Amino acid sequence: MQRDVQLTVIGKVFKPNPNKVLALNMTLKEYFRLVRRYLSFNSTSKTLLHENGYEKAKRLFKLNTALIQTARDKTIEILKSFQKNRKDNSALRPNRVSIRFDKRCYSFSKTTNVLTPYWLTLSLFRGRRVSLPIVFGEKQKARIEEAFRGEWSFTTVEMVKRDGEWYAHFVLKKTVELPDEPETVIAIDRGEANLAVAVAISKKDPVKPMKGRFWRGGEIKRIRGLYSHIRRKLQEKNRIGKVKELGRRERHKVNQQLHIANEIVAYAKQFPKPIIVMEDLNGIRRKFKKSKRLNRRFHSLPFRKLQTYIKYKANLKGIEVRYLSKKETKNTSKICHRCGYVTQVKGRIFKCPNCGMEYDRDLNACINITHRLMSSMGWGSCEPPEPADVTGGVKPQPNAGSPRLQSGEAHICFGTSWSDGE
Ligand SMILES: [Zn+2]
Repeated sequence: MQRDVQLTVIGKVFKPNPNKVLALNMTLKEYFRLVRRYLSFNSTSKTLLHENGYEKAKRLFKLNTALIQTARDKTIEILKSFQKNRKDNSALRPNRVSIRFDKRCYSFSKTTNVLTPYWLTLSLFRGRRVSLPIVFGEKQKARIEEAFRGEWSFTTVEMVKRDGEWYAHFVLKKTVELPDEPETVIAIDRGEANLAVAVAISKKDPVKPMKGRFWRGGEIKRIRGLYSHIRRKLQEKNRIGKVKELGRRERHKVNQQLHIANEIVAYAKQFPKPIIVMEDLNGIRRKFKKSKRLNRRFHSLPFRKLQTYIKYKANLKGIEVRYLSKKETKNTSKICHRCGYVTQVKGRIFKCPNCGMEYDRDLNACINITHRLMSSMGWGSCEPPEPADVTGGVKPQPNAGSPRLQSGEAHICFGTSWSDGE
């Protein structure tokens, strides 16, 4: 099975001359005006927007026809993402937009120029082209060079204006081959106390989870704590501008920590024909509005962002990633993965009143997620196994001092193979 992997590489427009900046600014203004006009049709139908808008837009807007079309596509994306996240369209008023150039209206080449070898030529409107010098950071440069070697293909370029500076976002694409029939399901979940938890289950032995692993995200927690402290101090002194800048620095530091995704993918890669499963967290944020404290705890660890990295890195390594909807992962934290009993969990350990199993709660939830994917793929019997004969034939009484699972054996559990990932 083939899958497209996308990557965005950001470069900065390096000291462009004022005329070029003027032309870019004017194009942005026109483009934004056009997007708002398309938005006023309140439709996600390409045909409708084209029929009602295209001819008129050609007369009314000073834009390349290719740009008129990308503005339409962009409008549809804005509307769709809005409909997905919120119900009410009337509040939809984006305050900025980037300009999308597709292959018809940009070219990108490497030259022998001493300032920078990378030059991006954009066609803005009839007869008006600008060539812009682009500079990249080290990592970005490596990816762009890969693209010049043909390992990635160039798709679109988004021109973004931020704080008075222009940036070019190159969207690169690569097609990877993924195995048709995976043999190991690896669930990766955010935990109650961990940044991420992972567990693997083999098709050959669906009852036994293998090698649970934790990434606690301690460094991220430390960064978050530090910045929230500085932020409070600044707020006391009423320095709001500084607070904004601080937010950017914090995000950057946290993003640097997301290299944990590499470890997670390496973890998955050690198993034969792995497939990764995660919970689709779209819309989860809204559910937690009730408690501010809980809210902070949940979002202090950027699991959703981590998921995006994991998916990208995994696909590049030929590992498929599936998401399960909220509905499909219902109750995964409350169910005993061994006997299927539903109970409330208190504290870090899942204690099953029915079969007596004691297990790390995050790992238990993670195992349940693998089970859900396995049954949706039709893998053998993924029914909860019979309760193991843990107490020598006597059924354990609820809360009657259930025996602890032996670690290292069938259920490898917390403490045996965990790492902070740092
Ligand atoms: Zn149980």
